[in-house]
Amino acid sequence: MTETAPAPRAPKSATSVAPLLEVKNLVKHFPIKKGVFHRTVAQVQAVDGVSFTLNRRETLGLVGESGCGKTTVGRTLLRLLEPTSGSVIFDGQDVFEMGRLELRQLRRRMQIIFQDPYGSLNPRMTVGAIIGEGPLIHQMGTKAERRERVEYLMSRVGLDPVNQINRYPHEFSGGQRQRIGIARALSVNPDFIVCDEAVSALDVSIQAQIINLLIELQDEFDLSYLFIAHDLAVVEHISDRVAVMYLGKIVEEAPARELYTNPRHPYTEALLSAVPEPDPTLRKKRILLTGDVPTPINPPSGCRFHTRCPKVMDVCSTVFPKAFPISPGHRSHCYLEDPEHAPKKPTPPATST
Ligand code: SF4
Repeated sequence: MTETAPAPRAPKSATSVAPLLEVKNLVKHFPIKKGVFHRTVAQVQAVDGVSFTLNRRETLGLVGESGCGKTTVGRTLLRLLEPTSGSVIFDGQDVFEMGRLELRQLRRRMQIIFQDPYGSLNPRMTVGAIIGEGPLIHQMGTKAERRERVEYLMSRVGLDPVNQINRYPHEFSGGQRQRIGIARALSVNPDFIVCDEAVSALDVSIQAQIINLLIELQDEFDLSYLFIAHDLAVVEHISDRVAVMYLGKIVEEAPARELYTNPRHPYTEALLSAVPEPDPTLRKKRILLTGDVPTPINPPSGCRFHTRCPKVMDVCSTVFPKAFPISPGHRSHCYLEDPEHAPKKPTPPATST
């Protein structure tokens, strides 16, 4: 079965309530150890000062090439990885200050859907047991209520509870397994889900079905998503806002429509130039980036993109550029937005009367 991609989402109106999630200056470095004494000889700077907020019932797309740190952001804010520094405030609570018991409660409210629908499901458990495991661990409802919820969620994500509840993951296709992963995440009634490359391993037509399903479920279950992907085309249809990452840092953030129609950071422009146009007569000029992505063990000074940027200037290798505001909710970390450094536009010749 095929399904077309949904139209881009209309922006949600701003509300005065506090964000559900506030990530402030998040840093995650992985030490590289060597020798008999396991001395730390270097650090992989996977995430280096990432900040963003996520409102209730909102989707933030987090995009960048593989290895840019976006998956590490998702896992660190759920504390599947311990942070190096920074803070994550979820519904008013500091996630990094939580003890084991509080963290256990939090896990019910913050879920993750993984990229690999093949590797993320226990092959020895039936689908019913996989989806029902979370409510069982968190002692939610009676046995009969849990069974009823599993059956409801299976039918809600497009599976057949009557004939499939006792089947095993290997009996399902990739798209069906991702539906099982979604039902598992929903089973504990979360507020927030990290979708970590959740559709990247699927065929394009199945991707559209899963994205449509996630959008429907967001409204029904009051969910907020952090939607991680390497492909701007995938993120466009589900995101209210998009943040673009490069080598451990967010370089541009904007409401989704604004980012796609008015990209300002040269890295975003390059990523967007690779997105195919639905109308083949509207050919875009592809911006080919030269050079390899630098290593996060020793990232470039200043703007980390300066070794590959087609618009690089002398100032770019000095200090990482601050966030320059473009319009409400749109900011770019690029010296091209700094009147002090941006190349002057030629003044039009004076017209004689
Ligand atoms: Fe390019 Fe300089 Fe802007 Fe970085 S700061 S994206 S190197 S122009």
